[in-house]
Amino acid sequence: SREIHLKRRPIGTPVAEDFAMVTVDAPPPGPGEVQVRNLWMAVDPAMRGRMSDAKSYVPPFALDAPMEGPAIGEVIASNDPVFAPGDLVFSRLGWREVFNAPASALQQRDRSALPTQAWLCFAGMPGLTAYAGLMRIARLQPDEVVFVSAASGAVGSIACQIARNTGCKVIGSAGGPEKTAFLRDVLKVDAAIDYKAEPNLTKALAREVKAIGATGIDVYFENVGGDHLQAALSLAHNFARFAVCGMISQYNVTDAPTVPRNLTMIMTKRIRMEGFIALDHMDLESEMVERMTAWNAAGQMASAETVYEGIDKALDAFWGLFTGANIGRTLVGFLG
Ligand code: NDP
Repeated sequence: SREIHLKRRPIGTPVAEDFAMVTVDAPPPGPGEVQVRNLWMAVDPAMRGRMSDAKSYVPPFALDAPMEGPAIGEVIASNDPVFAPGDLVFSRLGWREVFNAPASALQQRDRSALPTQAWLCFAGMPGLTAYAGLMRIARLQPDEVVFVSAASGAVGSIACQIARNTGCKVIGSAGGPEKTAFLRDVLKVDAAIDYKAEPNLTKALAREVKAIGATGIDVYFENVGGDHLQAALSLAHNFARFAVCGMISQYNVTDAPTVPRNLTMIMTKRIRMEGFIALDHMDLESEMVERMTAWNAAGQMASAETVYEGIDKALDAFWGLFTGANIGRTLVGFLG
């Protein structure tokens, strides 16, 4: 079985020499252990942080050991009474084909209810992030106008669909014509903005608000910050709610930000702006999975995934997160 180790801590953009593909034996599981063959793993931008040894809310990856990340696998041998061969399990033990783990590191998942990879996408953490942000933080109501930034991404693509399925009008923004076509054709948003092609995002948002017959936005699902936030403030209705999930445009900025220039609108328009972390809302997980399963069964939850086949392609999948190459959740399939 193969696994990918971190060999040394990358400086700047990671390069192939920072990693190693290592072949290991998988001995029979010991007492209380389970042997799992991974079927899918997901990669996300946060993994870059764990490759460095700077202090954060999760510890860095160890050197000369397999990296970690969300994965869905199948039990192939068990030395624990809770798990049996054939069980579908979620773990944080991605980046490896076959592994032994204590039963406590695994969670059962229902094989019949959803496509297997959905447990890493709309029924996994991206789903919970979008659901908690819209339903609990923004208290979304039917018939509202919702603006979603980074709308073609893992979280954004699910936020668009939750809002649409709740009976809202959705305006999404993403970079490039391929991504805006995906917003319109697959996610079925009401309007899509290619922010890379717009010299003035506030004017672009005003134009699209008008085009869908609205006068402003009621909810902003914030992933980007900067001029996206400035545009959302300008077009917000009084008493709008902004659920702040991320501000990716600001993560690599070194100078003091110059936008938004209109923050006083939070007061004049009585906007409620609230940041949140999905992990604080795990109590919503079963409700979220139930809603997602029903929407999926009704054909109302399109899978938004970019799939790379085989552990050999796992690093390519990861690079794709930073080049804008991937749409939706980025997955590695271990089926081949
Ligand atoms: P995505 O799949 O959305 O990937 C990131 C996207 O951000 C890219 O697709 C890219 O889209 C867009 N992007 C990157 N740089 C810029 C920029 N300068 N301006 C505008 N868009 C940009 O990742 P996730 O779904 O994992 O994360 C989305 C957001 O949610 C991030 O801000 C992340 O930090 C946050 N997050 C927060 C969580 C929480 O608990 N609060 C949990 C998970 C994620 P494009 O090609 O369109 O530019």
